[in-house]
Amino acid sequence: MINITFPDGAVRQYEDGSTSLDIAKSISEGLARKVLASKVNGQVWDASRPIHSDATLKLLTWNDDEGKSTFWHSSAHLMAEAVESLFPGVKFWVGPPVENGFYYDMDLGDRKMNEEDLANLEKKMNELARQNNSYVRKEISKKDAVKYFSDKGDEYKLDLLQGLNDGEITFYTQGNFTDLCRGPHVPNTGFIKAIKLTNIAGAYWKGDEKNKMLTRLYGVSFPSQKELDEHLQMLEEAKKRDHRKLGKELGIFTFDDDVGPGLALWLPNGAVVIEELERLAKETEEAAGYKRVVTPHIAKESLYLTSGHLPYYQDSMYPPMELEGVKYYLKAMNCPHHHKIFAAEPRSYKDLPLRLAEYGTCYRYEQSGELFGLMRVRCLHMNDAHIYCSKEQFYEEFKAVNDMYLKYFKIFGIDKYVMRFSLHSADKLGIKYVDEPELWIETEQLVRDVLIRTNTPYVEVPDEAAFYGPKIDVQIWSAIGREFTLATNQVDFAQGRRFKLEFATHDNKGETPLIIHRAPLGTHERFIGFLLEHYAGKLPLWLSPMQVKILPISDKFLDYGKTILQKLKKADIRADIDDRNEKIGKKIRDTELMKVPYMLVIGEKEMNEQKASVRRQGKGDLGAKLVDEFIDQIKTEIDERRGE
Ligand SMILES: [Zn+2]
Ligand SMILES: [Zn+2]
Repeated sequence: MINITFPDGAVRQYEDGSTSLDIAKSISEGLARKVLASKVNGQVWDASRPIHSDATLKLLTWNDDEGKSTFWHSSAHLMAEAVESLFPGVKFWVGPPVENGFYYDMDLGDRKMNEEDLANLEKKMNELARQNNSYVRKEISKKDAVKYFSDKGDEYKLDLLQGLNDGEITFYTQGNFTDLCRGPHVPNTGFIKAIKLTNIAGAYWKGDEKNKMLTRLYGVSFPSQKELDEHLQMLEEAKKRDHRKLGKELGIFTFDDDVGPGLALWLPNGAVVIEELERLAKETEEAAGYKRVVTPHIAKESLYLTSGHLPYYQDSMYPPMELEGVKYYLKAMNCPHHHKIFAAEPRSYKDLPLRLAEYGTCYRYEQSGELFGLMRVRCLHMNDAHIYCSKEQFYEEFKAVNDMYLKYFKIFGIDKYVMRFSLHSADKLGIKYVDEPELWIETEQLVRDVLIRTNTPYVEVPDEAAFYGPKIDVQIWSAIGREFTLATNQVDFAQGRRFKLEFATHDNKGETPLIIHRAPLGTHERFIGFLLEHYAGKLPLWLSPMQVKILPISDKFLDYGKTILQKLKKADIRADIDDRNEKIGKKIRDTELMKVPYMLVIGEKEMNEQKASVRRQGKGDLGAKLVDEFIDQIKTEIDERRGE
């Protein structure tokens, strides 16, 4: 018998050679139908692989990232089987799971793949999936493996085999297809219920442009047709909400060749959104005891040598410029400048916590192939701040930062979020991590306490912390369920020392402060990109570049319209009047396209009663209202930063 320990700590006995599937079945048949793979002693395994010793066991389903990637990787094998049956002689390179599905790189020889082939391949895959073929694992010697692929004339798999040794080579076979693979896979092809092949692309072998161009075939698959339909619908919706498309239509931002790639130009409407976001940040930070600072966009090389950005971060920085024999760099991070502000005068415990905030402009070198709309840029405006505090103050300070995130999530209607909490790994102290074992454990526990006590959803990720402390990556989901990394919070017990920052304690000793790096609104670039998708361009009233548009039915009511415009402007409401000689239907349609939240339609009746017919974006006609009442009403909506 073997002892199996479950994630909740329960231990149960099973017969030697039991598989994860057997164990799942002993719990319930329903569970067994959902098990895609398992984690045995921390390693992802086939659910059908026998276990021969005591082990910890976690059953993996579609809801686990590793379950999902096993599912998608298994689908890549299924796709390869279908390709081989329709394109005999094809040779395969690698077929990994990716963020949303899977691909396989292949050499089709002289043949090409087209849209029609995709439909045929999908059909074939569905047919093979319904055969419920098991993914059979077989350990094989290097000699036999080399023979198998030599006979097949497959130089790609032979290349992969070069780096492998006896004892670490496994073949997996499902149906008529055998692949060199370390696994794991789902138990059988029947788990794959819905398939969509999405894209054919080219990819150089091993990513090297000197090598042959292979065909990369992408697909995505799901355990049910319903999930595939939802996924495709989400992609369709995401296309409509693409921030690059909306940013252009709504006059938010543009790029120009002469300015340079990745350097966004914010147009007047975009600048309004930026101003409103900064106003929100300033109000919030002022109330939370932050002080604002302003720092230059460049600094001498010596600053970044002290911070360690040089040489470690050099590849992500713009090259230096030289002036009076000294090298200057564009700043990639605001931290070093803020540390110098801390160091600018003697500090005592009475000055702490010191919270320095700045919407700092940073410049980073992203490779041109990586640039993507506002999401990956080379110039970014960061909602940055650094909090310098004592160890005793750390818990409260970190909690306040967390509360600020939650406040913002509420304002922006972000319902789904998770904090990805990255920890150090004790065996890498002094190599990958600052060698401060106690501080690591202490601060990690304090961060964990905050997350637990505030009921904030989080996941712990071992061995992914920053060099100088634990970090939190904030993942948020837009209204259509797409994931974004908004920002990163970091605890830092190394930079203070590098910069020799000190404060005098109660008993007048010098102590290094802990530093919290935080940026709850991320960067303007990424956050506004997110907001455009999240709201499908229909920004809430308080953020809208244009809040009210006055639409006179004819020129006769232009003067009345202008008096309303005066009133709106006096109330600090962003408004304009459509004085074109156009039909009212067209005026309404054009205003709707620009996603202006309120329209005031005015004609004879409205003018005589000092009213306006109010139309709300997305809601239609709200009826006639007294102009003064309307203004009072939307003033409140703006002041409260309401979402709808
Ligand atoms: Zn595989
Ligand atoms: Zn920082």
